[in-house]
Parts: sequence; C-alpha cells; structure tokens
Amino acid sequence: MALIVQKYGGTSVGNPERIKNVAARVAQYRERGDRLVVVVSAMSGVTDNLIKLARAIMPLPSEREMDMLLATGEQTTIALTAMALHALGIPAESLTGAQAGIVTDGVHTKAKIQNITPKKVHALLDGGHVVIVAGFQGQTAEGQITTLGRGGSDLTAIALAAALKADLCQIYTDVDGVFTADPRIVPDARKLDEIAYDELLELAGTGAKVMQLRSVEFAKKFGVIFEVRSSLNDNPGTIVKEETKSMEDVVIRGVSLDKNQAKITIIGLSDRPGMAARVFTALADAAVNVDMIIQNISHGSGAPTTDLSFTVDKSELLKAQKVIEGLKKELGYKQVIANESIGKLSIVGVGMRSHSGVAARMFETLAREGINIDMISTSEIKISVVIEIAKAETAMRAVHAAFLG
Ligand code: ADP
Ligand code: ASP
Ligand code: MG
Repeated sequence: MALIVQKYGGTSVGNPERIKNVAARVAQYRERGDRLVVVVSAMSGVTDNLIKLARAIMPLPSEREMDMLLATGEQTTIALTAMALHALGIPAESLTGAQAGIVTDGVHTKAKIQNITPKKVHALLDGGHVVIVAGFQGQTAEGQITTLGRGGSDLTAIALAAALKADLCQIYTDVDGVFTADPRIVPDARKLDEIAYDELLELAGTGAKVMQLRSVEFAKKFGVIFEVRSSLNDNPGTIVKEETKSMEDVVIRGVSLDKNQAKITIIGLSDRPGMAARVFTALADAAVNVDMIIQNISHGSGAPTTDLSFTVDKSELLKAQKVIEGLKKELGYKQVIANESIGKLSIVGVGMRSHSGVAARMFETLAREGINIDMISTSEIKISVVIEIAKAETAMRAVHAAFLG
C-alpha cells in the first residue's frame, strides 16, 4: 500500500472525457490499495484565456489581481475531478492550494513555496478519501492568493510529494516522457528512460516546457525521484533522479528551444563602472528574470559608450522596457530596442564535462545551415545560442541530427 502523488497537466484534463479517464486511472490504483493525492492543472487553454481576458482590460494588470484570476482555472478542474471520482463511487474531496496548506511568499504570479502543512490532506487520506489538490496556487501567511509561475502545477506535485514523504510521484502529461527534444518539433526525438536532475534542470531552463524549471530544482533539493509519463497510455515514462556514473557516457542528452525570449538592447550606454549594476539591480527590484547578457566593446573616445543586450521572458518584456525607460534620465543612454523575433537553442548533457569539441560541432552544424549566431552562453553541461526565430526549428532538427540522430 503506497502513498502516491499524481499530477495531471492541462491536456490530460482538457475535456470531460479526459477528466473521466483520470478518475478511471485513479480508481485502478485505489483498487490496488494505494492512497492517492491528485494534483490537477487548469484545463488546457484556460490559463492562456484568462491572461488574454486580463490584457483586454489593461496591458499591465495588478499582479495580485492576476493571481486572483488565474487561480480560478485550477479551481474548476479540482471540483470536476472530484465529481468524476464520485461518479465512480469513490470518496474524494477537492482542496485549493491554501486548503492543502501550501504557504508561499508574496511575490505574486511567481510565488515561492515557503512551507507546507498538509494537515487537511492527511486527515482526508486517513478518512479513506482521494484528495484532489489545485496545482499552481498557494496562499501567503496573510491569506493572499498566489500562483507559482507558469507550469507551476508540477511544483505543487513535487512539493506535496516531499511534504507527504510520498512513495511515488508521477507527472502525467500528453507525451510518453522526457524526449531528446520536443517531439512536436523534432519527429526523430526519442523518449529517455532516465535523466539526471541537472540535465532536466538545464533543459527546462532553456525552453523544454515538459517540466517547470522550479519544480525540478525543488525535486533535486529534496531528493524527490519522479516519473514523467503519459496520461493517454500505460507506457513506462522517464525516471528523473540524481546523476549516476553511466550517464556521463552520453555526450548530449537533449536539445531544447525557447521561443519565449525577447532581447532588449540599450544603445549608447555610457561605459563607466556601475552602469551594468544599476540596470540589473533595477530589473531585479522589479522581479524581472534576466537570462543572457552581452556587452559590446565600447566605442568613442573621451566619454566612451557601449551597447548592452540581454534577454528576458517575453511575458516580462513590457515590464523590463518600463524599468529601462525609467532609468533614461539617470543613465542618459541613446535608445532602447526590443526584438521579439529570437529563439534560444541549447544542447545539454552531463557528458559534456568529459568530452571536448562539442561547441565546435554545434557551431559548424549551424554554419552549414546558414544560420547566424547572435549570442552565446555556456555552462558546464550546456551550450546555448540565440538565433533568428524563423530558422530556429530547422536549426533544432539539424543540431538534434548531428548529436542524437
Ligand atoms: P502539461 O500540460 O501536462 O503540464 P506541458 O504542455 O506543460 O504539459 O508539457 C508537455 C509538452 O512539453 C509536450 O507536449 C511537448 O510538446 C513539450 N516538450 C518540450 N520539450 C520536450 C521534451 N524534451 N520532451 C518531452 N516533451 C517536451
Ligand atoms: N495552469 C497553469 C499554467 O497553464 C499551471 C500549470 O498548468 O501547471 O501555467
Ligand atoms: Mg506543464
């Protein structure tokens, strides 16, 4: 008799039939005698629609009100899932994030979980219920509703699995597991049987939205081993766990593409100490996450100036532009340019530590395809390049074929 946390993503609860399928799967586990906590996302498209609705009212809505709005998506699904279980004669009760004891900080729209006191969850499990928990949401100690960032239901599941010391954590989605690349873009991509936390961290951080980045960070920190698998069949999925020795034999585990980044360039920024610090402190104060940064060689004598480029999530572009425009008087730069037509292509693998020539091979492959590289960044187990978005998918297939074909 195991305690299992299962999470079902948007497509897996996308219509009444799918929700009934979830209930049927839960029923199967229950028949084995397992106890279940089921985390669900909003039905597919719902969160995006809520965001559109808000933007139709105003371009930069209050983040507190965004959380109030977005939390309703998951609240719909928990009730429907509980009903689907009732229809099968299974006792089930739905809980919001707050009711499940998920306490977060107050950073609206990307709150961090501070602690979980799952008293109610335990009580319901002890009473023989299946517990359905709304993913992606929590509550501050002061009682404000918060959300955990896009894809945050993954985090709810992993954090609950840690807090409940669950025997198993299963992330059900619309593909068979973690693949060597997004199977929707690279038809030759292969499902991986296992992947190290660090590799999935880098893939998730560079656009492979199969798992939310912060949920993988959490799993690594608390040693939560989990499985990513399909809600549409019974195939075994991908086990995500600490790195093992044999994983280093594979040079590249996967390729990812992030089409959700935008580049901001500040032109004519005076080249003297403290300028970059000023720009990035202001962005950090506004809770804007900056990814890649490039500063050009300074030009001009006397009072030299430089151009500073950095990338941010598209969803934060407006906010970032506003911050930089707010600094115009103080910094006296010439101009700010935003470019949304970029893609960030990355290759990831712990084997990179012990193999050389990986970057050269990636750049050669792109050169052969006639693709220009705009920015480059690397970590011990990752190489990322920013390229023109129109060529990004072709580039991804070519790089996948070069390393994993
Ligand atoms: P859910 O709604 O279940 O959370 P998501 O849409 O967030 O599902 O994530 C699953 C999707 O992630 C897949 O449909 C797939 O297109 C995409 N994806 C991107 N990269 C990968 C990858 N390397 N392996 C598997 N899926 C990936
Ligand atoms: N519904 C939220 C989103 O679309 C959270 C999730 O699906 O994990 O981002
Ligand atoms: Mg997801």
